[in-house]
Amino acid sequence: MAKFSINLKDGNVEHQKEPIIGIDLGTTNSLVAFIKDNEAYCIIDDQQKSALVPSIIYFDENDQPIVGEQAKSMMALHPERTIYSIKRLIGKSYKDFENQTNRIAYKILDDGLDSSLVKVVVGEKLYNPIQLSSLILKELKNIAEKSLDQNVQKAVITVPAYFNDSQRQATRDAGKLAGLDVLRIVNEPTAASLSYGIGLNKDTKEIVAVYDLGGGTFDISILILEDGVFEVLSTNGDTNLGGDDIDQLIVQHFANQLNESNKTKFHELRTIAETAKKQLSFQDQFTTQFHGETLSIDIQQFEQLIQPLIAKTLVACQRVVTDAVLDIAEINRVVMVGGSTRIPAIKKAVATFFKKEVYDQLNPDEVVALGAAIQADILAGNRKDLLLIDITPLSLGIETVGGLMDTILPRNSKVPNKAGRQYTTSVDGQTTLKVAVFQGERDLVTDNRKLGEFILKGIPPMPAGIPKIDIQFVVNTDGILKVVAKELRSGVAQEIEIKSTYGITEEEMALMLLDSIQNAEKDMKIRALLEIQTEASSVVHSSKKFIQQNIQFLENEEKETLNNHIQLLENAIKVATKDEIQTVMDALNAYATPIAHQMMDVQILEAMKGKKIEA
Ligand code: AMP
Repeated sequence: MAKFSINLKDGNVEHQKEPIIGIDLGTTNSLVAFIKDNEAYCIIDDQQKSALVPSIIYFDENDQPIVGEQAKSMMALHPERTIYSIKRLIGKSYKDFENQTNRIAYKILDDGLDSSLVKVVVGEKLYNPIQLSSLILKELKNIAEKSLDQNVQKAVITVPAYFNDSQRQATRDAGKLAGLDVLRIVNEPTAASLSYGIGLNKDTKEIVAVYDLGGGTFDISILILEDGVFEVLSTNGDTNLGGDDIDQLIVQHFANQLNESNKTKFHELRTIAETAKKQLSFQDQFTTQFHGETLSIDIQQFEQLIQPLIAKTLVACQRVVTDAVLDIAEINRVVMVGGSTRIPAIKKAVATFFKKEVYDQLNPDEVVALGAAIQADILAGNRKDLLLIDITPLSLGIETVGGLMDTILPRNSKVPNKAGRQYTTSVDGQTTLKVAVFQGERDLVTDNRKLGEFILKGIPPMPAGIPKIDIQFVVNTDGILKVVAKELRSGVAQEIEIKSTYGITEEEMALMLLDSIQNAEKDMKIRALLEIQTEASSVVHSSKKFIQQNIQFLENEEKETLNNHIQLLENAIKVATKDEIQTVMDALNAYATPIAHQMMDVQILEAMKGKKIEA
């Protein structure tokens, strides 16, 4: 809701605009950013003391979700209740994910189906990736609301440029479920380019390649930046390639060094593998002890392991240059984005490919969220000097006779966009026509992804070849498709927004929303308890420190009473309700505050002893 405030200087009523936040919903970490005084910044969560919120959800024994750092710390202890890498599941069916289940510790429901959304099993409950992503988005929304001290209902969310229609729709639905009106879905490299290009001199023209390797996805895009216009020329990538895969390679490498009983400690190994990977960005060797055995990897072994993965990204780089009809020499800058681009071997390989030093001055973790905040600011009407022109990553078309893909909107077409073609019937008297819509680059539709289908009914019976059926594809700025089919001779028409087979229906969405409203009060209570527990722990910590620092000045009785209060508060943190903790904490504060003032006076007197004040 918009707010009004009164300017105390001149008494004018000012209209405070509704905030629009920018969200980078990552495989590994997520961030929320906002614009203040024309500067984009990532909002720091005061609980977790960082802008990076691990994209991890832990469901406690009462099935209550906990998101972020706290959830991450539960990963080794309760792997089956700790859900990570949700972005790899979004917009997919079980079949899509079937051969990757060995990389996760939690359970996926094996329904053997290719037609329904994949489901994660936690205890007795089933969750789909839209619900899970919405929990992360809700957490980000809460962090923003707390920091801005305002309701937040609008957001821009980034997705990998190479996300298909199903994955985009699923992300948008997750936003809706989290109570966010998703104003725009922006491609991650495009957002990164905004964040990079915003400071550039408007008069210069730059062709920029954005190489974005995160935790689970890889994107490469080429853009032309000129006069405040950010135009994407081409994009390519792999939505299943990232830092997680590197961790997996190291896990295999380590597993070969272990005896049978330790080999299977997959989750502990995964955490160590990520540590090893990060350290190898700065040093040549990593060694550690693991249940009595030694694990080691050196930089040569590491670089050899990841060579095929780097090569895969370079193939995509070659495609993107070819698609943009450019010579490599015409690219002025190669901007590195995503946590995995901290790996020196990756920077080196990319620099060699593009024949120039890469630009790695931006914070690879934050750059996408910052770009999303800039896009939010554009949509809020605050930046009229910037314009984004994005493209569709994959070709869109329909199935024609023989199961062939007939492309209507080729990949790398600018969005929003509209394109169409005319078709006719193949049988005399045919009154219906099935329109099956696919996305992908292959000639046979079976090799591409089916987005949906519908039947145009009521075509007046005519000899084969006579009806003129016009099919129009309309893609909006989010890259989401609407299809309109019309028989021109009779005017029979049908229009549908292609609803992803791997998404959720309006009814399912309504039920989930109802469920989340019913749980909202419970969620709020849990959050309030967690917050007071954290605050009380910090009071315990500082009180203990206070006693230590003033041990020689405190009376015995004061020490004893303080220790009693501390003990009571420690017990309360473990078992008490929010209000009870508050009461015990208030009692400690009430007792300690006058003593703290007294101690300060004593310390000042001590410090002044024998010192004269200069006149
Ligand atoms: P993002 O999705 O952009 O947050 O990237 C997260 C990925 O970056 C994870 O796979 C991290 O393990 C990886 N990462 C973060 N820091 C480093 C580092 N210093 N060296 C190698 N990989 C890193």
